[in-house]
Amino acid sequence: MQRESKPNVENRQKTSGKDSKKVPIGSADFLAPESLEKALDYRKRYGFQATVIAGGTDIMVDYFERLYEVNSWLDLNKIEELKKIEINDENIIIGATVTHKRIAEHQELQNHLPMLAQASSEVGAWQIQSRGTIGGNIVTSSPAGDTLAPLLAYNAKVVLQSKGDKRIIDIEDFFIGPKENVEESDEILTKIIIPKPSKNTLSRWRKVGKRKALIISSLTMAILIEVDDQGVIKTARACYGAVAPTPIEIRNVGDYLERQKLKNVDPKKVGEIAVSGISPIDDIRGTEQYRRQVTYDLTINAIKEMASEL
Ligand SMILES: Cc1cc2nc3c(=O)[nH]c(=O)nc-3n(C[C@H](O)[C@H](O)[C@H](O)COP(=O)(O)OP(=O)(O)OC[C@H]3O[C@@H](n4cnc5c(N)ncnc54)[C@H](O)[C@@H]3O)c2cc1C
Repeated sequence: MQRESKPNVENRQKTSGKDSKKVPIGSADFLAPESLEKALDYRKRYGFQATVIAGGTDIMVDYFERLYEVNSWLDLNKIEELKKIEINDENIIIGATVTHKRIAEHQELQNHLPMLAQASSEVGAWQIQSRGTIGGNIVTSSPAGDTLAPLLAYNAKVVLQSKGDKRIIDIEDFFIGPKENVEESDEILTKIIIPKPSKNTLSRWRKVGKRKALIISSLTMAILIEVDDQGVIKTARACYGAVAPTPIEIRNVGDYLERQKLKNVDPKKVGEIAVSGISPIDDIRGTEQYRRQVTYDLTINAIKEMASEL
């Protein structure tokens, strides 16, 4: 299939500002299909010429700052199929337009996926949580997106659907750079599939920002550890946001932890391994040095806290 490449932020900016070809605000077409099938038809026909909108909490900010043009909107809000949360014996399946508020308040998600529920409860404030969706957070693909480190730690997969076709990929492979991802012009992110964690799973989520609320994260951390009945670590995933161009898992942490007894683990060693795997930058939300120190401290504390739970 002939596929159009996605305009990156740089390209979008070239068409903004005082460009006389700018489409006046309010004059773009508004497509609001009631079925996924119809939405995929539109996506095939218009490609990136139709901008997908879910909650609008990211895209409308960019639009009103005129970071790029919008010829047509493709609104997903009338598609019931994308709003479902399903839980079966193996997986938890979350529709792309499920809001952060629903995730944060969902009792079973709080029980099975506490890091995701907590992350959703800390996205912006309640107004943003009521509009903003998990799919929008993923497709925006900011390295600082709050749900992303938890989704990596839970080994989530994303479903990218196009007319008559479907790709299911590890969420880790979805991100390719800051605000860059592998979504094609005819695709819509429809679902997130998360394997149900076993009952012997411990986890820690932390968000650090310049103040307590309504703040883009300087750093996020999500660590998941699954132990057997003797407290030996079967699986461990340590994932971080805002410390590299994409949200990342530091695999060396998992390699170090697996097969050790959690009670015998040296937390400082885990902190050192985590820091050696990140590549932070200086920006307005923190210096490289600060992010290294915070990664170290949060990791140590998380390991100590989880060991004390056994
Ligand atoms: C005041 C404020 C505070 C915020 N605080 C936080 C915060 O603390 N943490 C945080 O992580 N984020 C924060 N955000 C960012 C934003 O709210 C989240 O990223 C939110 O999850 C975006 O979801 P949305 O549905 O509004 O996305 P939209 O704005 O509707 O869409 C975002 C992008 O994803 C695309 N898109 C959306 N859904 C799909 C889909 N299903 N398939 C294909 N493409 C799709 C859109 O085309 C667009 O490119 C904040 C934003 C604001 C304005």
